[in-house]
Amino acid sequence: MALSPFIISAHDLPRRPGEIRQMRLEIDEHEALGFDVLAIAQDQPIDIDFTLQSVEEGVLVTGTVISVASGECGRCLDPLEIDVDEPFQDLYEYDVDPRQARKADKKKSAKKLEEELSEEDDELRHMVGELIDLEGPIRDAIILNLPINPLCDANCEGLCQGCGEKWANLAEEHSHEQIDPRWAGLAGLSGLSDLAVEGEAGEIDGPGRN
Ligand SMILES: [Zn+2]
Ligand SMILES: [Zn+2]
Repeated sequence: MALSPFIISAHDLPRRPGEIRQMRLEIDEHEALGFDVLAIAQDQPIDIDFTLQSVEEGVLVTGTVISVASGECGRCLDPLEIDVDEPFQDLYEYDVDPRQARKADKKKSAKKLEEELSEEDDELRHMVGELIDLEGPIRDAIILNLPINPLCDANCEGLCQGCGEKWANLAEEHSHEQIDPRWAGLAGLSGLSDLAVEGEAGEIDGPGRN
């Protein structure tokens, strides 16, 4: 079993505060990241540029995650794509002496390592031996910044509730005025017009149109 693609090794980083290593990670296959309406699909590449910096307590990871989220417009349901370009930073505390850790890592199964890496202690992330799991901060950077109600355009007018057609494709005067025959006789009476509109689907004008 292979480790999660988000797990990297700080093997090349000397354990001396101030030491820095520049790294880059390209992930082609991963779990979908995001929401039902908008997510980075499983096969959408994720590029991560980051530095590992030795600090007193562990390793500070600072980077940028770049990818593309795809989904659909919350109003007109057209497919859309949104560029993801988000910074992230997190401190990973050392767990034990790295030489012991390296030996210990070799004995552990991938599943055990992943379990240990994903454990969080008081919100603090930690290393397991020389390993660092970037998934948490990357997932947070993506999810906290994706729009929950994505729109193809801030002015998207959505769909006509009467026929489901996009307002962008409909004539200015488009509407569904026919009145349910059961209410037709009452339509002239004041105070009942709202009732008639609620009575049956297909009679509602779109937003901002009369
Ligand atoms: Zn739209
Ligand atoms: Zn319509």
